[in-house]
Amino acid sequence: MQMITVLGATGSIGISTLDVIARHPDKYAVFALSAHTQINKLAEQCQQFNPKFAVVSDAVLADQLQAKLRACGCATEAIYGVDALCQVSSDAAVDTVMAAIVGAAGLVPTLAAVHAGKKILLANKEALVMAGGLFMQAVADSGSMLLPIDSEHNAIFQCLPTDYGTSSGADRGVEKLLLSASGGPFRGMSLEQMHSVTPDQACAHPNWSMGRKISVDSASLMNKGLELIEACWLFAVPEQSIEVVVHPQSIIHSLVQYADGSVLAQLGNPDMRTPIAHALAWPQRIESGVAHLDLFEIARLDFEKPDMRAFPCLAIARAAAQAGGDAATILNAANEVAVQAFLDQRIGFTQIAAVVKETLNRQAVSEPESLEAVQESDNQARLYSSAYITRLEK
Ligand code: NAD
Ligand code: MG
Repeated sequence: MQMITVLGATGSIGISTLDVIARHPDKYAVFALSAHTQINKLAEQCQQFNPKFAVVSDAVLADQLQAKLRACGCATEAIYGVDALCQVSSDAAVDTVMAAIVGAAGLVPTLAAVHAGKKILLANKEALVMAGGLFMQAVADSGSMLLPIDSEHNAIFQCLPTDYGTSSGADRGVEKLLLSASGGPFRGMSLEQMHSVTPDQACAHPNWSMGRKISVDSASLMNKGLELIEACWLFAVPEQSIEVVVHPQSIIHSLVQYADGSVLAQLGNPDMRTPIAHALAWPQRIESGVAHLDLFEIARLDFEKPDMRAFPCLAIARAAAQAGGDAATILNAANEVAVQAFLDQRIGFTQIAAVVKETLNRQAVSEPESLEAVQESDNQARLYSSAYITRLEK
């Protein structure tokens, strides 16, 4: 029986994770669930999965959640705060942690799971983008197993040789990683046409149903930029070895090109339960609830190059990957602030790129030696981009 903590249980990835877990009660049990503020949803999940702990962000919410749990006869204990998230991620009873909190808030609890040597199912790409060097060093030091949930990285992981990157396997003739992108809801539009798009339009993704932050990132292609940086860390390759391929059907989730001319791809319907089930059961395979792929119904697959003029975020992220140091920390922080400002209708969609670019131009890049240094860069970038947004509003 694998004991699992699901961080961000009430989100899109958290719900899909619990859906897969519920299909295999003989294999998986839930140790803890977490949510930011959605206590009603979390209480329902506790009733169904009966975890030892449920974690929320503050004491008032924890009291309210505890009252709800008591009223329905659920023995789960409600706790709160970052220390509680770290505790349920590193507890000796836990085998696996699903890291599915959105944004920088997921970094510290995910690192706690890494330090404790847990099997990490990583959905929270922002954690790796903002602290890649420290994160991968901690994985190496603790010997924890890091499995990618992001569908593209999960696909690449499946297409790489099992001994890739080890001393015996080295690169095994891997030449290039081809990162799939759907193109998002604004594919085919010009930059000018995107000036007036609304948050709801940006969140209406053609192929995937996701949280609002990643939906906006998908619309701006910043998601692909973050994924490019994520892939550099996960697979130890430079950004030049990664090409972004726009593939509107989202059936091929990514590909690996080899020296002999072979290109291996992973295909499947666009449903996150496939990579989640893959990582949960790895190296076994389990049923995920995802409908089998019907190639005859799909009939055709299309590919195109990304429009770099209409989607400047991709080039900005590539430049940050090339700059190294804490450039990706700054990029991620400025993007989180800008996306929230767009969702709050304080800035326009195309100003997200402007905020990120301006913040990167104004912050000096340095090599963060500690978690505190990463958090300091993150904080400085948030302060700068928030002030810049206020100026844009005037
Ligand atoms: P979501 O917004 O649907 O859910 C986020 C979860 O994190 C919720 O449970 C929320 O309560 C919790 N949370 C939010 N802010 C928090 C905070 N400050 N402290 C503690 N908890 C907090 O997001 P999602 O779409 O499930 O995405 C989660 C992560 O997975 C993101 O990093 C995203 O990039 C990544 N991801 C998502 C998908 C997808 O299909 N949804 C695909 C690939 C990667
Ligand atoms: Mg992805």
